[in-house]
Amino acid sequence: MAGGTAPSGEPGADGNLRVVLLGRQGSGKGTQADRLCALYGVPHMSTGDAFRAAVRSGSELGKTAQGYMERGELVPDDVVIDVIRAHVFGPGSAYGFVLDGFPRNLSQAEALEGLAAPEGLDGCINLEVSLDEVLRRLSSRRVCSSCGATYNLVSSPPKVAGRCDSCGGDLYQRDDDTEEAIRRRLEIYEAETAPLVAWYRERGLLISVDATGTPDEVTARVVAGVEERRGHPRVVAG
Ligand code: AMP
Repeated sequence: MAGGTAPSGEPGADGNLRVVLLGRQGSGKGTQADRLCALYGVPHMSTGDAFRAAVRSGSELGKTAQGYMERGELVPDDVVIDVIRAHVFGPGSAYGFVLDGFPRNLSQAEALEGLAAPEGLDGCINLEVSLDEVLRRLSSRRVCSSCGATYNLVSSPPKVAGRCDSCGGDLYQRDDDTEEAIRRRLEIYEAETAPLVAWYRERGLLISVDATGTPDEVTARVVAGVEERRGHPRVVAG
């Protein structure tokens, strides 16, 4: 998890934002989650980052997750929900959060509804990008092995080839960013995760955002959507 302190005068400096991010792989969830967390002063929880860190450390969680990840399949719900329960809703957790990569299917969304009750969520941000565009982005995506920062060799390359601008770490291509695993992950997204768009819309929580353009342009749309949504009374779950 990574967090940040909201600069004073920025939107929502009260630090209580509670949102989830939906969007195809490559839609920019990680980038926008980092930016929202810095703006609103809440922690960032990426289940994919948590699993990659667990695989690197060789923990039991990593051993469980590794095979699923390499095949581009979802890690079993009970494993993922336990991670969210411990890291986002455990004792001493911050009130607000940005969830990136969770929920991924209906049973995870229902579990989250229970965990987030009674206050519920401020919204579900859906980053909308075409299939062609995400395929283009994913094949040129590189990630820092040290701090997890994400680059795109075409649209946002590092200043020095193969090196992270922020920490100097080595950049690598994710094992699951191969053509076969990308195809599998996108199929699972359409079958299991895309239906959550309608599910959140029915609950009055959906914030749809056009996620094409520069990261700054997308952030401006995301913040506008969040602020509009937060002008409404918070939806109480359950
Ligand atoms: P991501 O970085 O979000 O693309 O996640 C990378 C991989 O981690 C996925 O392809 C899954 O194998 C696993 N993963 C991440 N989040 C979840 C989740 N909410 N449910 C199941 N598996 C997940």
